[in-house]
Parts: sequence; C-alpha cells; structure tokens
Amino acid sequence: MNLSLEYVKRRKKLLEILSKYRDPELAKKIIEKIHIVADRIDEEKILLMSFCGTHEHTVTYYGIRSLMPSKIDLVAGPGCPVCVTPARIIDTAIKLALEEDVVILTYGDMYKVPGSKLSLAQAKGLGARVEVVYGFNDAVRKAREKASKDHVFVGVGFETTMPTVASYIYSNRMPDNLYVLPAYRLTPPITKYMLKLKEIAINGIILPGHVSAIIGVESWLFLEGIVPSVIAGFEPIDVLMAILMILRQIARGEARVENEYHRVVKFRGNEKARKIISEVFDIVDADWRGIGIVPESGAVFKEKYSEYNALEKYDAKVDNAIDIRPGCRCTDVVLGLAKPTDCPLFLKACTPERPYGPCMVSSEGTCYIWAKYGGYIVNRKEG
Ligand code: SF4
Repeated sequence: MNLSLEYVKRRKKLLEILSKYRDPELAKKIIEKIHIVADRIDEEKILLMSFCGTHEHTVTYYGIRSLMPSKIDLVAGPGCPVCVTPARIIDTAIKLALEEDVVILTYGDMYKVPGSKLSLAQAKGLGARVEVVYGFNDAVRKAREKASKDHVFVGVGFETTMPTVASYIYSNRMPDNLYVLPAYRLTPPITKYMLKLKEIAINGIILPGHVSAIIGVESWLFLEGIVPSVIAGFEPIDVLMAILMILRQIARGEARVENEYHRVVKFRGNEKARKIISEVFDIVDADWRGIGIVPESGAVFKEKYSEYNALEKYDAKVDNAIDIRPGCRCTDVVLGLAKPTDCPLFLKACTPERPYGPCMVSSEGTCYIWAKYGGYIVNRKEG
C-alpha cells in the first residue's frame, strides 16, 4: 500500500515536471517563431536530421512534422542501436544458442530483429536458449541465479549502454559464467560518416540527448563550422526548441554546437562513465548493418579483458551474413536517404507484427514509429 502511494506520488511529480515540456501554449509560440525564422532563410529546402530514434518518436507521435513550414524536411538518422547492429551478431548469437551449452541474454528490442535468416525469437522456437533481460544488471542477476550454466549477453547499443558493462568488468564483479558478445557502436563517428555522404545535404542536426549525457557537449565540437547542431531532450518542447535554435544558426550563417538539454547534459558529460569506458574498451573500425565499415566507430574489450569476450571464448564465427534482405530499404532509411513510405514493403510485407527488416522492430526504428504512430499520414499529405 505504501509502495503504491509512493509510486503515485513520484509519478505525479514526474508528470508535473514533464508538463512544462509538453505545454501546448508554449509549443504554439515556438512554432510561430520557427515559421518566422524559416521565412528569413533563403534556402528553398532545409533538411534537418534527428540522430536519435527517440527524437523521431517525439516528432511523429506529437505530429511535429505537420506543424513545420513546408520548406523544412525532418528526417530520422541512424540512432536506433538494434537497427544498425550487423546481422552477423544476431547469427552468431543464434549459433551459440543452438550449438553451445549457453543461455543467450538479450534486450527485448533485439529479440525480434531478423538476422540473415532468423531472429533470436524464431531461434528460440527451434530450441535455442534465449532469455530477454531489461539491462546488464538483470543479465548479471540471471547468470548468478544459474551459476552452473554459461551465459552470453548480446552487448548492443551506443555510448549509453557501455558504462554498466565496463563498470562490472573494471571492478572485477563479473560472474565467472557471463560473457559479452560485443557490438557497441559510437555516435560521433557515424555522424562524421553521414556528413561526408554525397547523396544527402544535411542543414542541421538534432544531436542525441542520452548519449550526450555520457560523452558531453565537447565530443560534438568537431561539428562546429560544419553544420548547425543542437543537443536536445526528448519532450516536444525540447525538439521544437532544438529546431528553432538550428534555424536561428542557419539564418545567421553560423554552424555551432548548442546544448538545449542543459538540464541533463554537461560540457564534459559524465566524466566517471567516460573514464571507465576508456579503461575497459578500445576503439576500433566497426561494421554497421547495411552500411559497412565506419572508421573508429566501434568498441571492443581491451586485450586484458578479452576473457569476457564471447568471441574469444567460443568458436562462433559466422560467414556470409545478410544484413539487408531483398527489397528492404532500411539502410537508406537509417541514413536519411529514404522515408519508410519509400519502401514498397512498408505496411504490406513488413509490419510491426511481422517485421521483414530491422527498422520495423524496435520502438526506436523509424519504420516501426511511422507504422505505429501514423508518420505515413503526414507524408502522404505532403506528397
Ligand atoms: S518497411 Fe520494413 S522492409 Fe521496408 S525499409 Fe522499413 S524495415 Fe525495411
């Protein structure tokens, strides 16, 4: 009873705080300013990319696209970790679960993502030992509970998911029967990569809030002088403010890195987390699903911690993985080169219930968000 009361109180407090960032009157004022500033900009088209799947969720869920001046195009970027995890990693996890005496532990989002042929969920139907966990702490708990069995955690995600794993390893708290299949990816290098693509000219970037809470504003300073960029929170007011701040930079002919999410993100980020990450991981060139190798965009355990790497412990090499199935345009969607509605399979052969491609699985996947919250309706009107 007391617990429920405490929960209700906390939830009420949270909603009070959030209501400031969901205020419709404030939103109207910011939107008016966005229109005024956009009118002052000479460019006929302004392409703004939101890096993060959670920003795309806010844009689509709150109908922000439909409120923008017609010259502004909002596209989603590669900020959906499970969408960009190579099929090779899923195939490897499946191989381990079917051929070795291990339990695979994975986030719920990753569970249904198709590998070359199967998802982990489908593999479980064939007898693979796969369990869903809420995070790495949960994986540690499960491994400790079943100490007689080896467990392999599918280590996907951006800079936000790395500190917990690094902390267990660095402080020598890893259970002896737990290994990690590492597929960590870093956000600044893929941003650099996208800015070099000839096929897309990005006029402004809404940078990821959660990741920036770890890596800090300073990790994005390479964008200064290149493209107007704003680190943003995830509420509608945050996203609208970020758009307005980017437009003001464009109107003034500036290209700076600004921080709209200063209530969470500090200039140097979370220094403790950054230190522990750098103690445990080495930065390496890494493959992104459908995109290929991006220089210095991945993280693997340092040599001295390689005993925790599942790829060192088991012979689980997988050849000829297929990242993108025929007809799926997920690579283009992730790079902002296409919208989900440009894919002929969208809401036909590919739905949230029966995903064909990786962008249709996670709540951070653009195709999933558009399917779930009607992103395609706005796009149809514009078309
Ligand atoms: S709708 Fe499905 S098949 Fe098409 S790009 Fe998205 S994930 Fe791929």
